[in-house]
Amino acid sequence: MPAFDLRTVLLMSSVMPGLMALVMFSMGRSFPTNIRGVGNWACGALIVSVASILLALRGGVPDWLSIIGGNCGMIVSTGLWLIGSQRFFGRPPSWRFVTLMLAIGAIGESWLTWAQPSAAGRALCINVILALIYVRQTFVMLRDGRHDSSAMFVGALFLIQTAVTVLRVVTSIGSGFAATGLYARGFVQTLYLGTGAILSLMATVAFMLLAMNRLRVQLEQQALADPLTGLLNRRAFLNAHREEREKMMRTGGRLSLLLIDLDHFKTINDTYGHVKGDEILVDFSERAAAILTRHTHFSRWGGEEFTVLVPGSRPEDVFDLAEALRSRIALNDNPSLPAYTCSIGIAYTAGGDATIERLVKDADEALYRAKRNGRNCVELSDQAIMV
Ligand code: GH3
Ligand code: MG
Ligand code: MG
Repeated sequence: MPAFDLRTVLLMSSVMPGLMALVMFSMGRSFPTNIRGVGNWACGALIVSVASILLALRGGVPDWLSIIGGNCGMIVSTGLWLIGSQRFFGRPPSWRFVTLMLAIGAIGESWLTWAQPSAAGRALCINVILALIYVRQTFVMLRDGRHDSSAMFVGALFLIQTAVTVLRVVTSIGSGFAATGLYARGFVQTLYLGTGAILSLMATVAFMLLAMNRLRVQLEQQALADPLTGLLNRRAFLNAHREEREKMMRTGGRLSLLLIDLDHFKTINDTYGHVKGDEILVDFSERAAAILTRHTHFSRWGGEEFTVLVPGSRPEDVFDLAEALRSRIALNDNPSLPAYTCSIGIAYTAGGDATIERLVKDADEALYRAKRNGRNCVELSDQAIMV
């Protein structure tokens, strides 16, 4: 066994999570409010630092501060990590459980310091409590974070920590509580302190990665979705078109574009108000999406105009799809909304020149014809008819 100076290990381990906490605090401030728990984790990391320092200063500071303060600090910090994880995954936080653990820990450690002094008893008390919190943390991470590798990593770290803590408890009972002080030499004790030191830092870093990953996914989604309807926005639609066009150029398929415009929408807004107008836009998106297949790309092009990209279908099938969509909207079976209709222009290409400009221009011409023909109808572009 290398001659570890356990006190040094403990002191070194205490500084790192504290530094991480500062990083987390400053980054967490700019996180959107729906990403919760980062603040709890940061507080936990800060407190674990302070608690480790207090434990390492045993003998240099009063016992009540080192033993009670240090151990209670460990309970509070691991409890805050648990609560942070629960809040992060949208679960109700276990404040009562953590408070109960803290109360038992504070009373137990005080009793075993002054009334019935026992270093082994204190170690047993704190380790049973920590093991209970670690188990719950492991469970939360492995259950709610099963689709995220960072969460699985945090879960695995806490699983290891639980195992080491349980091992520490079992060996201390097995050895009849001999030599179980914090700095007692031995493999299990070295393992216990070493894992604790590494885990605090690694778990904090991994949780930070988890939170940043969620932020990235959220920002990506926001950048590609229309905020009112949740449909693809124009940027996302252009991406989808580029991909489909590349595929089409490789395989020689076909591409169609539906340009849909709600009829007399200005009058609807003027008559029923802008809010009702917005509700109609949402209603339209939902009802149209129910008609469209998974292979199509449906976007809000802007205002009350929508686009659908249909890869791989013949003009007559695309026409039937558009007609089904138009008639579904014209049914007006939502009693909370005024009746409304839409007009649709279709552009179609079978060659390699399906640029978005070309498709939109052709579809716009067809849409213009649909409007001129009295609205609430579908028109194919001239090019589509010629194919
Ligand atoms: P047409 O049948 O010829 O298409 O007539 P229209 O009134 O629908 O056409 P126009 O383009 O003149 O009007 C579109 C209206 O859509 C004008 C604008 O106030 C409204 N609009 C655009 N974006 C929104 C939105 O996000 N919410 C609401 N409520 N209205 C919007
Ligand atoms: Mg319009
Ligand atoms: Mg319109």
